[in-house]
Amino acid sequence: MKIDLHTHSADSDGTERPGDVARAARAAGLDVFALTDHDTTSGWQEAGDAAAAAGISFVPGMEISCTTGDGISVHLLSYLHDPEEPALLAEIESSRSSRLTRAARMVELLSVDYPIDWDIVREHVHDGATVGRPHIADALVTVGVVESRSAAFASVLSSRSRYYVAHHAPDPVHAVRLVRAAGGVPVFAHPLATARGRVVGPEVFEAMIDAGLAGLEVAHRDNPEEARARLVRMASEHDLLVTGSSDYHGSGKPNRLGENLTSVQSLVRIEEQASSGVGVRHP
Ligand code: AMP
Ligand code: FE
Ligand code: FE
Ligand code: ZN
Repeated sequence: MKIDLHTHSADSDGTERPGDVARAARAAGLDVFALTDHDTTSGWQEAGDAAAAAGISFVPGMEISCTTGDGISVHLLSYLHDPEEPALLAEIESSRSSRLTRAARMVELLSVDYPIDWDIVREHVHDGATVGRPHIADALVTVGVVESRSAAFASVLSSRSRYYVAHHAPDPVHAVRLVRAAGGVPVFAHPLATARGRVVGPEVFEAMIDAGLAGLEVAHRDNPEEARARLVRMASEHDLLVTGSSDYHGSGKPNRLGENLTSVQSLVRIEEQASSGVGVRHP
């Protein structure tokens, strides 16, 4: 069984429609995949329908952007939650609207030095999609400022850049509680991705675990090899499930579908812990 529990579509910062992600998952030989767009569940229906047509299983998911009090970015994967639960929905709607203001502000700052404006960025955002720095990156590529998304993140879009602006995001401990209250299963995405910026210390892991964290995404290209043993140890100490996944973004990132996989046992544990009535969709 090949199971990949972390992918993005153009409903956030991936480059393919949700249905195309499902077809790409089938072509990559996956049996099960999850769609986990940033702060939205809008792709679930299309991805689920296309997965059924392609004969593979679909796990509805989402990746919630969070920020600690110290300003450290944390990504929390949520599986099988009720997409209409009011408290969680209000929080992600607030993030999504703050993302829009923040992206506009970043573009305003960038436009002082580079030939870019909001109209060019908007052309790279699909209708209703969660807006992020990758869309600004795509616009910068179009106007020839950088060669790729990666080059943009390594320079003008870095969190250390003078053009960087933060957006509202829930505290990760609060987000874990919101996911559980929505009947979902919270998994800490790429917890030790040091290349992306600062990562949280043991006290935040413990607070998230106390709040009901279900698992850790261990096999992910952004977790350094030497850090993974530490995550596995933490998982066994606290009886957390572990996952592995690609974090596929279509052509927006080099990550390939199925490059890391999740065990059947972990998927079963996710299904057992979900209490929202939303289940894995089998063909
Ligand atoms: P934002 O949430 O708007 O702050 O942007 C962060 C998003 O940008 C993450 O979800 C990643 O998918 C994406 N990202 C981060 N670093 C890179 C990179 N080097 N190349 C392409 N995409 C990236
Ligand atoms: Fe992303
Ligand atoms: Fe992430
Ligand atoms: Zn992701």
